[in-house]
Amino acid sequence: MINSILVLGGGSAGLITALGLRAALPAGVTVTLVRSTRIGAIGVGEGTTVNVPFYLHNHLRMDRAEFFRAVDPSYKRGVRFKNWGPRPHYDYALGRNLSFQLRALPNPAGYYCDKEFTHISPAMSLMEHGRFFLRDAKGGVLDDGVYGYHFENERLVEHLESVAAARGIALIDDEFMSAQTGEGGISLLHFTSGRSMRADLYVDASGFRAELLGAALGEPLESFQSSLFCDSAVVGGWARAGEPVLPYTVAEAMDSGWCWQIEHRNRINRGYVYASSFVTDADAEAEFRRKNPKITQTRIVRFISGARRRSWVKNVVAIGNSCGFVEPLEATALGNICEQTAEIAQCLSDTGRDPRPSAIDAYNGLVWRRWCMIRWFLATHYKCNSRFDTPFWRAARADTDIGEAGLLLRFFEDNGPSMMATGLVPQPIENFGLDGYWIHLVGMKVPYRRTHAPSAAEMQTWNSHRAKMSAMGVNGFAFGEY
Ligand SMILES: Cc1cc2nc3c(=O)[nH]c(=O)nc-3n(C[C@H](O)[C@H](O)[C@H](O)COP(=O)(O)OP(=O)(O)OC[C@H]3O[C@@H](n4cnc5c(N)ncnc54)[C@H](O)[C@@H]3O)c2cc1C
Repeated sequence: MINSILVLGGGSAGLITALGLRAALPAGVTVTLVRSTRIGAIGVGEGTTVNVPFYLHNHLRMDRAEFFRAVDPSYKRGVRFKNWGPRPHYDYALGRNLSFQLRALPNPAGYYCDKEFTHISPAMSLMEHGRFFLRDAKGGVLDDGVYGYHFENERLVEHLESVAAARGIALIDDEFMSAQTGEGGISLLHFTSGRSMRADLYVDASGFRAELLGAALGEPLESFQSSLFCDSAVVGGWARAGEPVLPYTVAEAMDSGWCWQIEHRNRINRGYVYASSFVTDADAEAEFRRKNPKITQTRIVRFISGARRRSWVKNVVAIGNSCGFVEPLEATALGNICEQTAEIAQCLSDTGRDPRPSAIDAYNGLVWRRWCMIRWFLATHYKCNSRFDTPFWRAARADTDIGEAGLLLRFFEDNGPSMMATGLVPQPIENFGLDGYWIHLVGMKVPYRRTHAPSAAEMQTWNSHRAKMSAMGVNGFAFGEY
C-alpha cells in the first residue's frame, strides 16, 4: 500500500500534483516535494485551457481572491489565429461556438461563414470587441466559467509553493544525483547534499530532464516530430505602454513557425516557436525582432514534442514535461497536468492505494490517448494553413502527419462543416472535439465541395443572428471593469 509519496520537481507540474494528491489522500499519507532552486522551473509566460482555473479553485480549493493577489492572472477567452489561412485572423474561443444550427436555416452555422467569421457566438463576439465578460440581466458580470488564465510561470510557482507549505507538504531544496533501482522500480534516491530518500511512490516532475522515468528507468520518449516540426522558441517581451490588455492569446503565423502573445497586466510576453531544421536561431531572432520592435532581452528555449507511451512504470509516475510535451500552440500543458493529477489521485483512491498492473495499464492508456488526441489536433493546424509559401509551410502542408484526424479532414473536404462527423473525432472532448476542428477548418478556409449555396434570405437570417451576438459582445466588460 502506498503511504509515502515523493515528488521530484517543483515546477507547476510537481506542485499541482503534490497539492492534488495531498487533497485527495488521507492525512496519514506523507507527501514530500524535493526540487532544486539552483536549477529552477521553466519560467515561460503561460496561457491555459478552461479546466485549469476550474481545477485550481474547485478541486484544490485555492482561494480566488488570494490567487489573484499573488499571481495576477488575466482572463483568456480564446486564441486569435493571425495569418493562419487567407483571412487576416479568426478566433478560436474557448467553449463550444460553431456546433449549432439556427432553427430557421437548413444547415449548421459553419456553412454560413465563408465571408465573415466573427460574432458567431457570444464568446467570439467578446473576443472581437476586446471584452472579457458578458453582462447578466441586471448588468452585472455573467461568470460563465468558460475562460482560462494568462500568467507568469514564476508567480504561479511561487504561489503554489506557499499554498503547498501551508497545507503540510514538506518542501526540500536539494539536487537529485542518482537512483538505486530494482525489481519494483526505484528503491532509493541520492541527492547532492548527501541526503538519501525513499518512498512508496515517486512522482517524476523534473521537467525535460525526466530524471526518474526517463534517465533512471529508461522509459523512452516517442517523438511527435513527424506531426510537429517545431523544436525551439525565442522568447521575449516588453513592458506594456498603453496597449490594451487583450482577452485572448495571439498565435501569429511566422515564416518558420508561429509567435504567441500572452497578456499580463504590465507586460506583453511574446515567443516565436520555430523549427530549427528550417531556420537558424539568428534568423528566427531577427524575424522576431523585426515584427516586434519593442522586444528587449530574448532567450532561446529548446524542446522536443513527444511523450512516453507508459507514463507510470512500477513505482514511478511522470507528470508535466517529464511525461511528455507538445509545443504550446493550444497551451495544453497545464490542462493536461490537472487532468493527470486528478486521474492519479482517482487511481490511488479506487485501488486502496495498491494499484495492480491492470490499473496502471488503464491509466497509461488514458494518458497516451490524450497525448495523441492533442498531437493530431495541433498537426491539423499546420497541415491546413495555406497562407505562406516559405519552405517551412510548404513542408508542413505536404508532410505533416495528422494521423487519426485524416478521416475528419477528408469528411470536411467532401461535406463541409456538418455535425454528422461527430463519430470521426479522434477524441470527442470539449474544445478539441468537432467544434474545435470545424472552427479551424472554416477559419483557415479549407476548401470543401459545395452542395448548397445559401440564399440571400438565409444570409439575412444568419446576419441578424451575428448582429445579436455583436450587440452582446460590445456591451461586455473591458479589462479591469469587472
Ligand atoms: C516555449 C514554451 C511555452 C510554453 N507555453 C505554455 C503555455 O502557454 N501553456 C501551458 O499550459 N504550458 C506551456 N508550456 C509548458 C509549461 O511551461 C510546462 O509544461 C509546465 O510549466 C510544467 O513544467 P514542469 O513542472 O514539468 O517543468 P519545470 O518547470 O521545468 O520544472 C521542473 C522542476 O524539476 C526540478 N528539477 C529538475 N532536475 C532536478 C534535479 N536533478 N534535482 C532536483 N530538482 C530538479 C526543477 O528545479 C524544477 O523545479 C510551455 C513550454 C515551453 C517550452
